[in-house]
Amino acid sequence: MDNNSVDLKLFEELESEVRSYCRSFPVVFDKAKGYKLWDENGKEYIDFFSGAGALNYGHNDEKMKSALIEYISGDGITHSLDMASIAKRNFIRKFKDTILEPRDYDYKMMFPGPTGTNTVESALKLARKVTGRTDIISFTNGFHGMTIGSLSVTGNAVKRKGAGIPLQNTVTMPYDSFVDNGTDSLDYLERFLEDNGSGVETPAAMIFETVQGEGGINAASYEWMKKIEEICKKWDILLIIDDVQAGVGRTGTFFSFEPAGIKPDIVCMSKSLSGYGLPLAITLIRPDLDIWTPGEHNGTFRGFNHAFITATAALDYWKDETFEKKIQEKARTVQEFLINLTDKYPEIEGEVCGRGLMIGIETKKETLAEKIAAEAFKRGLIMETSGPNDEVFKLFPPINIDMEGLEKGFEIIEASVRHLVKEPVHN
Ligand code: PMP
Repeated sequence: MDNNSVDLKLFEELESEVRSYCRSFPVVFDKAKGYKLWDENGKEYIDFFSGAGALNYGHNDEKMKSALIEYISGDGITHSLDMASIAKRNFIRKFKDTILEPRDYDYKMMFPGPTGTNTVESALKLARKVTGRTDIISFTNGFHGMTIGSLSVTGNAVKRKGAGIPLQNTVTMPYDSFVDNGTDSLDYLERFLEDNGSGVETPAAMIFETVQGEGGINAASYEWMKKIEEICKKWDILLIIDDVQAGVGRTGTFFSFEPAGIKPDIVCMSKSLSGYGLPLAITLIRPDLDIWTPGEHNGTFRGFNHAFITATAALDYWKDETFEKKIQEKARTVQEFLINLTDKYPEIEGEVCGRGLMIGIETKKETLAEKIAAEAFKRGLIMETSGPNDEVFKLFPPINIDMEGLEKGFEIIEASVRHLVKEPVHN
């Protein structure tokens, strides 16, 4: 094979048509370190994708890797369902000491299956069990996963259709700024709850993302979140925050909802929790709601010990506030870059959206965001699009990236935009 040829034939022949990211990034990846990846021809890529939020600390972090190698070499237990293990004990203790206690959060930890959709399913199930109610309120453009329960609270029409059955016992309400004609969407929501003629029953729970990762990088305001919490309290509805994508530092704090000053009843986390890209999920539960009976919700791959090892090492980043401050500083740099970009290239009709390092540009020009992402890939940068019509290009660098990495990424993005809007297209 020559140096630049890409051979995807085997994947095309044998891997299902459902594959998707390999179509946006059509090369065969080989190695990765920090904010860089290399394909099998040795071409380097800057990673502004971070495994869709599963690699917030970049690839193959040295400290996590050493801890894992040491654990594996010592024949530490790998698989143990939900049996007690030293690796799990160390994680639980350190999560409580480093994350929960300093933030004054009191939660019990449930380990569902290892994915985002597993934690969401467990949260919905528990909310229904606790309240004895059936319905869940979710929000426009929310995304919560691909299994039936999670799909039923997901907005995207194509993804919902994939269920192949009616998705029931959920009601969709407008997310912050969904209705932009000045209507206060939460007054509207409350009217539905208080009026017996609304056709909406008091739900078991409301579920939302503080910043919608797949639904267009829409950030809910802190006031909106606070008001939701108030409404939930008033009507005795449980508040579930899906922090699968926005959590673990992505928006500038460990939990994305911290600056809003709210205390959700249930929190869903996965993606970057293990720190190393290993599958791990956690459902945090207000202690008095933990009415599960033993084994009532189970799964073979809960509490993967290798993931506990790297997750415990990852918590070192959160020993004090230094890391959060650095993320917030970088977030400001990215925001400035994006604002300048929209000013400098009015042709893209762009608007900056998001919060922290979960940020992007929404462009009014159809298909432009996808074209920018594709051009950036050709030039050696990986980023994805978001939104119901892929109208946002989304900057998701590792949260521990350095300035040099950010600047390299900025150069490629600007060159891609310039190429698409200023330079004549030769076909
Ligand atoms: N919730 C949110 C907010 C997500 O972004 C995702 C994945 N993109 C999920 C749930 C589902 O996670 P998983 O793909 O691991 O099932």
